[in-house]
Amino acid sequence: MNEVVKTGVIGFPIDHSVSPIIHNHWIDEYQVNTDSYKKIGVEPKLFEEEVLRLKESGALGLNVTVPLKELAFSFSEEQTEIAKQTGAVNTLTFKNGKVYGDNTDVIGFQRSLDQETVENNIANKKCLVLGAGGAARAVVCALSNLNGEVFICNRTLEKALKIQQNLRVQPEVIEQQNLGTVVGEISFIVNTTSLGLGNTENTMVDFTQVNPQVFVYDLIYNPKLTKFLSAAKERNFGYQNGMKMLIEQAAESFKIWHDIHPKISDELMNLLEEL
Ligand code: NAP
Repeated sequence: MNEVVKTGVIGFPIDHSVSPIIHNHWIDEYQVNTDSYKKIGVEPKLFEEEVLRLKESGALGLNVTVPLKELAFSFSEEQTEIAKQTGAVNTLTFKNGKVYGDNTDVIGFQRSLDQETVENNIANKKCLVLGAGGAARAVVCALSNLNGEVFICNRTLEKALKIQQNLRVQPEVIEQQNLGTVVGEISFIVNTTSLGLGNTENTMVDFTQVNPQVFVYDLIYNPKLTKFLSAAKERNFGYQNGMKMLIEQAAESFKIWHDIHPKISDELMNLLEEL
Protein backbone atom coordinates (compact mmCIF):
# COMPACT_ATOMS: atom_id res chain seq x y z
CA MET A 1 0.00 0.00 0.00
CA ASN A 2 1.29 3.53 -0.80
CA GLU A 3 2.04 5.67 2.28
CA VAL A 4 0.07 8.87 2.90
CA VAL A 5 1.81 11.97 1.53
CA LYS A 6 0.55 15.42 2.51
CA THR A 7 3.75 17.30 1.68
CA GLY A 8 7.15 16.19 0.42
CA VAL A 9 9.91 16.65 -2.10
CA ILE A 10 9.96 14.94 -5.49
CA GLY A 11 13.11 14.51 -7.58
CA PHE A 12 15.52 12.01 -9.11
CA PRO A 13 17.72 11.07 -7.31
CA ILE A 14 16.23 12.14 -3.96
CA ASP A 15 18.19 10.36 -1.22
CA HIS A 16 20.53 13.33 -0.67
CA SER A 17 17.69 15.79 0.11
CA VAL A 18 17.71 17.41 3.57
CA SER A 19 14.39 19.18 3.02
CA PRO A 20 12.52 16.61 5.21
CA ILE A 21 14.72 17.55 8.20
CA ILE A 22 13.75 21.23 7.78
CA HIS A 23 10.02 20.76 7.11
CA ASN A 24 9.53 18.05 9.76
CA HIS A 25 11.28 20.29 12.32
CA TRP A 26 8.71 23.03 11.61
CA ILE A 27 5.78 20.57 11.45
CA ASP A 28 6.70 19.53 15.02
CA GLU A 29 7.52 23.04 16.24
CA TYR A 30 4.24 24.56 15.04
CA GLN A 31 2.22 21.38 15.68
CA VAL A 32 0.86 21.49 12.16
CA ASN A 33 -1.91 18.95 11.83
CA THR A 34 -0.38 16.98 8.95
CA ASP A 35 1.63 13.85 8.24
CA SER A 36 5.39 14.13 8.03
CA TYR A 37 7.10 15.55 4.93
CA LYS A 38 8.36 12.72 2.69
CA LYS A 39 10.96 12.08 -0.04
CA ILE A 40 9.57 10.85 -3.35
CA GLY A 41 12.00 9.57 -5.99
CA VAL A 42 10.57 9.49 -9.49
CA GLU A 43 12.07 9.44 -12.98
CA PRO A 44 11.08 12.31 -15.29
CA LYS A 45 8.96 10.04 -17.50
CA LEU A 46 6.75 9.06 -14.51
CA PHE A 47 6.58 12.56 -12.98
CA GLU A 48 3.09 13.58 -14.17
CA GLU A 49 1.51 10.24 -13.32
CA GLU A 50 2.96 10.32 -9.79
CA VAL A 51 2.01 13.95 -9.13
CA LEU A 52 -1.57 13.28 -10.27
CA ARG A 53 -1.75 10.21 -8.03
CA LEU A 54 -0.55 12.23 -5.02
CA LYS A 55 -2.96 15.05 -5.79
CA GLU A 56 -5.89 12.62 -6.02
CA SER A 57 -4.86 10.95 -2.76
CA GLY A 58 -5.21 14.27 -0.89
CA ALA A 59 -1.70 15.76 -0.85
CA LEU A 60 -1.40 19.47 -0.04
CA GLY A 61 1.68 20.21 -2.09
CA LEU A 62 5.17 19.18 -3.17
CA ASN A 63 8.62 20.64 -3.51
CA VAL A 64 10.25 19.79 -6.80
CA THR A 65 13.98 19.31 -7.23
CA VAL A 66 16.59 18.20 -9.81
CA PRO A 67 15.83 17.52 -12.67
CA LEU A 68 12.06 18.11 -12.60
CA LYS A 69 11.59 21.89 -12.12
CA GLU A 70 11.00 22.73 -15.76
CA LEU A 71 8.63 19.77 -16.14
CA ALA A 72 6.75 20.98 -13.06
CA PHE A 73 6.40 24.40 -14.67
CA SER A 74 4.72 22.99 -17.80
CA PHE A 75 2.62 20.58 -15.75
CA SER A 76 1.16 23.20 -13.37
CA GLU A 77 -2.13 24.76 -14.47
CA GLU A 78 -1.54 28.23 -12.99
CA GLN A 79 1.79 29.82 -12.12
CA THR A 80 2.74 32.81 -10.01
CA GLU A 81 4.42 35.76 -11.74
CA ILE A 82 7.75 34.73 -10.25
CA ALA A 83 7.42 31.17 -11.62
CA LYS A 84 6.54 32.63 -15.02
CA GLN A 85 9.60 34.86 -14.78
CA THR A 86 11.85 31.79 -14.31
CA GLY A 87 10.05 29.10 -16.34
CA ALA A 88 10.77 26.70 -13.45
CA VAL A 89 8.62 25.54 -10.51
CA ASN A 90 9.95 24.23 -7.19
CA THR A 91 6.67 24.37 -5.24
CA LEU A 92 3.42 22.74 -6.34
CA THR A 93 0.20 23.34 -4.41
CA PHE A 94 -3.02 21.36 -4.89
CA LYS A 95 -6.05 23.52 -4.20
CA ASN A 96 -9.65 23.56 -5.47
CA GLY A 97 -8.85 20.63 -7.76
CA LYS A 98 -6.07 22.58 -9.47
CA VAL A 99 -2.27 22.42 -9.59
CA TYR A 100 -0.56 25.74 -8.79
CA GLY A 101 3.15 26.36 -9.46
CA ASP A 102 5.47 28.74 -7.62
CA ASN A 103 9.23 29.25 -7.47
CA THR A 104 10.48 29.98 -3.95
CA ASP A 105 14.15 29.60 -5.01
CA VAL A 106 14.14 33.23 -6.18
CA ILE A 107 13.11 34.65 -2.82
CA GLY A 108 15.19 31.98 -1.03
CA PHE A 109 18.33 33.11 -2.84
CA GLN A 110 17.58 36.82 -2.29
CA ARG A 111 16.91 36.35 1.44
CA SER A 112 20.07 34.28 1.86
CA LEU A 113 22.27 37.27 0.99
CA ASP A 114 23.59 39.80 3.51
CA GLN A 115 22.70 43.41 2.78
CA GLU A 116 26.42 44.22 2.68
CA THR A 117 27.00 41.65 -0.10
CA VAL A 118 24.08 43.04 -2.09
CA GLU A 119 25.36 46.61 -1.78
CA ASN A 120 29.06 45.89 -2.32
CA ASN A 121 28.99 43.06 -4.84
CA ILE A 122 25.62 42.83 -6.63
CA ALA A 123 23.68 46.10 -7.05
CA ASN A 124 24.92 47.87 -10.19
CA LYS A 125 27.82 45.38 -10.38
CA LYS A 126 28.70 42.58 -12.80
CA CYS A 127 27.53 39.15 -11.60
CA LEU A 128 28.50 35.83 -13.18
CA VAL A 129 26.18 32.81 -13.05
CA LEU A 130 27.80 29.43 -13.80
CA GLY A 131 25.24 26.89 -15.06
CA ALA A 132 21.94 27.10 -16.94
CA GLY A 133 19.64 24.59 -15.26
CA GLY A 134 16.52 25.17 -13.13
CA ALA A 135 18.44 26.78 -10.27
CA ALA A 136 20.28 29.16 -12.62
CA ARG A 137 16.94 30.54 -13.85
CA ALA A 138 15.97 31.48 -10.28
CA VAL A 139 19.39 32.99 -9.53
CA VAL A 140 19.45 35.06 -12.74
CA CYS A 141 16.02 36.52 -11.86
CA ALA A 142 17.04 37.18 -8.23
CA LEU A 143 20.28 38.94 -9.21
CA SER A 144 18.42 41.00 -11.75
CA ASN A 145 15.78 41.93 -9.12
CA LEU A 146 18.72 43.18 -7.01
CA ASN A 147 19.93 45.32 -9.94
CA GLY A 148 22.90 43.14 -10.83
CA GLU A 149 24.22 43.13 -14.39
CA VAL A 150 24.05 39.40 -15.09
CA PHE A 151 26.39 37.25 -17.22
CA ILE A 152 25.76 33.53 -17.68
CA CYS A 153 28.13 30.74 -18.72
CA ASN A 154 27.29 27.06 -19.16
CA ARG A 155 29.02 23.93 -20.48
CA THR A 156 26.18 23.55 -23.00
CA LEU A 157 25.99 26.95 -24.71
CA GLU A 158 22.47 26.31 -26.13
CA LYS A 159 21.00 26.08 -22.63
CA ALA A 160 22.45 29.47 -21.66
CA LEU A 161 21.09 30.95 -24.90
CA LYS A 162 17.68 29.43 -24.12
CA ILE A 163 17.66 31.21 -20.74
CA GLN A 164 18.57 34.46 -22.49
CA GLN A 165 15.69 34.00 -24.95
CA ASN A 166 13.06 32.71 -22.50
CA LEU A 167 13.49 34.90 -19.44
CA ARG A 168 12.12 38.39 -19.20
CA VAL A 169 15.48 39.45 -17.83
CA GLN A 170 18.15 38.87 -20.43
CA PRO A 171 21.58 37.94 -19.10
CA GLU A 172 24.61 38.30 -21.34
CA VAL A 173 25.82 34.86 -22.47
CA ILE A 174 29.57 34.16 -22.27
CA GLU A 175 31.11 31.14 -23.95
CA GLN A 176 33.23 29.12 -21.56
CA GLN A 177 36.45 29.66 -23.54
CA ASN A 178 35.89 33.45 -23.33
CA LEU A 179 35.35 33.64 -19.56
CA GLY A 180 38.88 35.01 -19.07
CA THR A 181 37.93 38.19 -20.94
CA VAL A 182 35.24 39.21 -18.41
CA VAL A 183 36.12 37.53 -15.16
CA GLY A 184 38.41 40.33 -13.91
CA GLU A 185 35.44 42.76 -13.93
CA ILE A 186 33.07 40.46 -12.03
CA SER A 187 32.08 41.28 -8.41
CA PHE A 188 29.88 38.27 -7.67
CA ILE A 189 30.32 34.69 -8.92
CA VAL A 190 27.69 32.03 -8.25
CA ASN A 191 27.98 28.35 -9.05
CA THR A 192 24.58 26.83 -9.90
CA THR A 193 26.03 23.75 -11.63
CA SER A 194 26.12 20.38 -9.91
CA LEU A 195 29.94 20.44 -10.15
CA GLY A 196 31.14 20.10 -6.56
CA LEU A 197 28.60 17.49 -5.48
CA GLY A 198 30.46 14.40 -4.28
CA ASN A 199 33.57 16.61 -3.89
CA THR A 200 34.08 16.91 -7.66
CA GLU A 201 36.23 19.76 -9.01
CA ASN A 202 34.78 22.95 -10.50
CA THR A 203 37.47 24.62 -12.60
CA MET A 204 35.18 26.81 -14.73
CA VAL A 205 36.74 30.02 -13.33
CA ASP A 206 40.45 30.72 -13.05
CA PHE A 207 40.63 32.44 -9.63
CA THR A 208 44.06 33.91 -10.42
CA GLN A 209 42.30 36.29 -12.86
CA VAL A 210 39.56 37.39 -10.44
CA ASN A 211 39.28 40.76 -8.67
CA PRO A 212 40.12 40.13 -4.94
CA GLN A 213 36.97 42.04 -3.87
CA VAL A 214 34.80 39.34 -5.46
CA PHE A 215 32.17 37.37 -3.50
CA VAL A 216 31.88 33.66 -4.38
CA TYR A 217 28.64 31.75 -3.76
CA ASP A 218 28.02 28.03 -4.31
CA LEU A 219 24.43 26.74 -4.29
CA ILE A 220 25.70 23.36 -3.12
CA TYR A 221 25.30 22.87 0.65
CA ASN A 222 26.60 19.30 0.94
CA PRO A 223 29.61 19.29 1.19
CA LYS A 224 29.50 22.58 3.12
CA LEU A 225 32.82 23.67 1.63
CA THR A 226 33.07 22.56 -1.99
CA LYS A 227 36.49 22.63 -3.65
CA PHE A 228 35.25 25.77 -5.43
CA LEU A 229 34.51 27.55 -2.11
CA SER A 230 37.68 26.20 -0.58
CA ALA A 231 39.72 27.81 -3.39
CA ALA A 232 37.84 31.11 -2.79
CA LYS A 233 38.54 30.89 0.96
CA GLU A 234 42.27 30.28 0.34
CA ARG A 235 42.38 33.55 -1.60
CA ASN A 236 40.51 35.43 1.15
CA PHE A 237 37.49 36.13 -1.08
CA GLY A 238 34.07 36.45 0.60
CA TYR A 239 32.17 33.19 0.20
CA GLN A 240 28.91 31.42 1.09
CA ASN A 241 27.35 28.00 0.52
CA GLY A 242 23.71 27.13 -0.35
CA MET A 243 22.42 26.17 3.13
CA LYS A 244 20.76 29.50 3.93
CA MET A 245 19.07 29.52 0.52
CA LEU A 246 17.81 25.99 1.10
CA ILE A 247 16.26 27.00 4.43
CA GLU A 248 14.79 30.26 3.11
CA GLN A 249 13.17 28.59 0.08
CA ALA A 250 11.77 25.90 2.40
CA ALA A 251 10.35 28.59 4.73
CA GLU A 252 8.53 30.20 1.82
CA SER A 253 7.04 26.85 0.66
CA PHE A 254 5.96 26.12 4.26
CA LYS A 255 4.21 29.50 4.35
CA ILE A 256 2.39 28.75 1.08
CA TRP A 257 1.05 25.39 2.32
CA HIS A 258 0.46 26.06 6.04
CA ASP A 259 0.07 29.84 6.20
CA ILE A 260 2.81 30.09 8.84
CA HIS A 261 6.13 31.86 8.27
CA PRO A 262 8.48 29.61 10.27
CA LYS A 263 11.42 30.84 12.34
CA ILE A 264 14.94 29.83 11.40
CA SER A 265 16.01 28.93 14.94
CA ASP A 266 19.46 28.04 16.31
CA GLU A 267 18.06 24.59 17.05
CA LEU A 268 17.29 24.05 13.34
CA MET A 269 20.69 25.42 12.32
CA ASN A 270 22.38 23.03 14.80
CA LEU A 271 20.44 20.09 13.35
CA LEU A 272 21.69 21.00 9.88
CA GLU A 273 25.25 21.66 11.10
CA GLU A 274 25.40 18.06 12.31
CA LEU A 275 24.83 16.63 8.81
P1 NAP B 1 19.92 21.00 -13.39
O1 NAP B 1 18.71 21.70 -13.90
O2 NAP B 1 20.07 19.53 -13.57
O3 NAP B 1 21.23 21.77 -14.00
C1 NAP B 1 22.53 21.26 -13.79
C2 NAP B 1 23.58 22.27 -14.28
O4 NAP B 1 24.88 21.73 -13.95
C3 NAP B 1 23.57 22.50 -15.79
O5 NAP B 1 23.95 23.83 -16.06
C4 NAP B 1 24.67 21.53 -16.28
O6 NAP B 1 25.28 21.91 -17.49
C5 NAP B 1 25.67 21.68 -15.15
N1 NAP B 1 26.58 20.53 -15.10
C6 NAP B 1 26.31 19.28 -14.67
N2 NAP B 1 27.40 18.50 -14.78
C7 NAP B 1 28.39 19.30 -15.31
C8 NAP B 1 29.75 19.06 -15.68
N3 NAP B 1 30.33 17.86 -15.51
N4 NAP B 1 30.48 20.11 -16.17
C9 NAP B 1 29.91 21.34 -16.33
N5 NAP B 1 28.63 21.59 -16.01
C10 NAP B 1 27.87 20.59 -15.51
O7 NAP B 1 20.06 21.22 -11.80
P2 NAP B 1 19.55 22.49 -10.93
O8 NAP B 1 18.16 22.25 -10.42
O9 NAP B 1 19.82 23.72 -11.68
O10 NAP B 1 20.52 22.35 -9.64
C11 NAP B 1 21.91 22.61 -9.78
C12 NAP B 1 22.61 22.57 -8.42
O11 NAP B 1 22.08 23.58 -7.56
C13 NAP B 1 22.45 21.25 -7.69
O12 NAP B 1 23.68 20.96 -7.07
C14 NAP B 1 21.40 21.55 -6.64
O13 NAP B 1 21.52 20.73 -5.49
C15 NAP B 1 21.72 23.00 -6.31
N6 NAP B 1 20.54 23.74 -5.78
C16 NAP B 1 20.62 24.26 -4.52
C17 NAP B 1 19.55 24.97 -4.01
C18 NAP B 1 19.64 25.54 -2.62
O14 NAP B 1 18.58 25.91 -2.06
N7 NAP B 1 20.81 25.68 -2.07
C19 NAP B 1 18.38 25.16 -4.77
C20 NAP B 1 18.35 24.64 -6.06
C21 NAP B 1 19.44 23.91 -6.56
P3 NAP B 1 24.75 21.35 -18.92
O15 NAP B 1 23.58 22.22 -19.27
O16 NAP B 1 25.91 21.51 -19.81
O17 NAP B 1 24.36 19.91 -18.69
